[in-house]
Amino acid sequence: MKLAMIGFGQAGGKIVDRFLDYDDRTNSGIVRAAIAVNSAKADLIGLDNIPEENRVLIGQARVKGHGVGADNELGAEIAEEDIDEVQNAIDQIPTHEVDAFLIVAGMGGGTGSGGSPVLAKHLKRIYTIPVYGLGVLPGTDEGGIYTLNAARSFQTFVREVDNLLVFDNDSWRQTGESVEGGYDQINEEIVRRFGILFGAGEVGDGQEVAESVVDSSEIINTLSGGGVSTVGYASEEVELDSGGGLLSRFTGEGGGSDDDLDAANTTNRITSLVRKAALGRLTLPCEIEGTERALLVLSGPSEYLNRKGIERGRKWLEEETGSMEVRGGDFPRQEPEVAAAILLSGVTNVPRIKRLQQVAIEAQDNIDDIQRESEENLEELVEDDEDELEPLF
Ligand code: GDP
Repeated sequence: MKLAMIGFGQAGGKIVDRFLDYDDRTNSGIVRAAIAVNSAKADLIGLDNIPEENRVLIGQARVKGHGVGADNELGAEIAEEDIDEVQNAIDQIPTHEVDAFLIVAGMGGGTGSGGSPVLAKHLKRIYTIPVYGLGVLPGTDEGGIYTLNAARSFQTFVREVDNLLVFDNDSWRQTGESVEGGYDQINEEIVRRFGILFGAGEVGDGQEVAESVVDSSEIINTLSGGGVSTVGYASEEVELDSGGGLLSRFTGEGGGSDDDLDAANTTNRITSLVRKAALGRLTLPCEIEGTERALLVLSGPSEYLNRKGIERGRKWLEEETGSMEVRGGDFPRQEPEVAAAILLSGVTNVPRIKRLQQVAIEAQDNIDDIQRESEENLEELVEDDEDELEPLF
C-alpha cells in the first residue's frame, strides 16, 4: 500500500523520518511521499531523511519558529491559519499514486496534538482517498498536561480521520534508559509493526508474489468503518535457504515424508505466532473480544508460509474476537524470520483510554483550581489591606 505520510510535530516528524529509513532498508515501497510539519524550526532541522523541501514550518508569525510549548489549542489555531502552506507541500506530491494519507503525531504535545486533527479535517474535504491517523499516547509519567492534551486530541482526531491507529508509549517504556534512547527503540517498534502491515501487497522488484496476497483494498476495507485500531505482532527466527527450499529438504532423507512434516511444522509455527501476536503486547492494549474487523499478515520466506496456517490463524482470530470480518494473507520476504502482524480495527473495550480520560479530567480540574487560586493570591498581594492606595491609571 502506498502512503503519503505527514509527520506533525516532533514525534510525528521523527517517526515518519524513521519510516523512510525502514522503506530504504527493506525496499518495501510504502512511503510514496513524506512531509514534516512543525512550528519548531529546530525539530525540522534535526530530521535526517525527509527532503528539505518537504519540511513545512507553520506559525512563524505567532511563535517565530520556537514551537507552541505543549499548548495544543495554539497548535490547532496555527495549523488552521497556515493550512495553505501544508497544502502547498502536498500539491508537490503525486497524490494520484497514493492509496491513503497517514498523519503521524504524538498526542501529548502541542503542535502535532492540536494540528493533526485540523489537517485530517482539511484533507478529508479535498481528497477522496482515506485519511488515517497514527496517534502516539504519552507515557503516564509525563504528567497531567500531556495526558489532558492527549485525551482532548484523541477525541478530536478519531472524529476527523477514517481510522485512528494508536500506539501507547506507556506500554513500551523501558526502565533505566535515557528518554532519547528509549524513543529510538520505540520508534523502531512502530515502523516494524506498521511497516509490515502497510507493506503487505506492495510487491517490489525481485520480490515474490504471495500465494494469497493481501492487497491495499483489504487493508482499506479492514480500516473502513472508522474507530480505533491496534496492532499485534510476533516473530520467530528461521534459517534462510539460498537454494529456495527448506534446508531440511536437502539434508533430510526420504523427501516425501519430510515435506509433510515441514508442512505440519509450518502450519503449527504460524498458528502459534498468530496467538502470540494477538495475546501479546498490542500497540494499544485492549480487550480483543468485540473487535469489529481484523487483518492478519504473515510475512517471511515463502517456503515458511502456507495457506493452511493462515486459514487456521484466521479462524482462531474469528473465534477470539467474535468478528465475522477477519481477512488474512501472506507477504513473502527474504528475511530470516517469520512474523505475524495483526491489525485489530474497531476496538472498543480499551480501559487504557478510560484511565487516560479520568486523569485528564483531574488534571483539568486541578489546573482550573490552581489558576483561580493564583489569581486570588496575586490580588491579595497587590492590593493593600485597607484599599488606601490608588493605582496610577
Ligand atoms: P509537538 O512537537 O508539540 O507536537 O510535541 P512532541 O511531538 O515533541 O511530543 C508529544 C508527545 O510525543 C510526547 O509527550 C511524547 O509522549 C511523545 N514523543 C516525543 N518524541 C517521541 C518519539 O520520538 N517517539 C515516540 N514514540 N513518542 C515521542
